[in-house]
Amino acid sequence: MKKILLYYKKIEIIGEPEFANYIVKVLKFMNKKIPSRLKTIQKYINRIEQSSKTCQAHLNELSICYMSAKTAYYSTTWCAGSLVHEAHHAKLHLEYLKNNKTKIQRLLKVPRKISAMQKEELECIKQKLIACKKMNAPKKEIDCLKKADGLHFLKKQTW
Ligand SMILES: [Zn+2]
Repeated sequence: MKKILLYYKKIEIIGEPEFANYIVKVLKFMNKKIPSRLKTIQKYINRIEQSSKTCQAHLNELSICYMSAKTAYYSTTWCAGSLVHEAHHAKLHLEYLKNNKTKIQRLLKVPRKISAMQKEELECIKQKLIACKKMNAPKKEIDCLKKADGLHFLKKQTW
């Protein structure tokens, strides 16, 4: 299906019409329930784009949050929490670049240790959990986040 581009508070949203409109709805919900978290997203995410999986990436100067329909449509609170999670990845990445200016080219070529990736995931999951609690997310979502071991990225690897 054809993708469209929408804007909400200068955040680009790219996806199928239904998806893009849904994300705007979720961002409006966040603006009402957790405005400070929405500000964090405005600061660290330039674009939210529909994709087959949910993750965060930096393309040149652009910070993109890719989001799957599965994650988005699970629920409004889950989608909002996932945006908080991915924005935290973007924040950590920028802080990392700031602190490792000289070593960065070399370091980027070295695969990161699983333990370091798990530590970062747990930090992002914690941010999502705090946000979900504040939005009164369903108990099953809170429980799922509490149980998360931060190793979900291992199970998603298909290569
Ligand atoms: Zn993550």
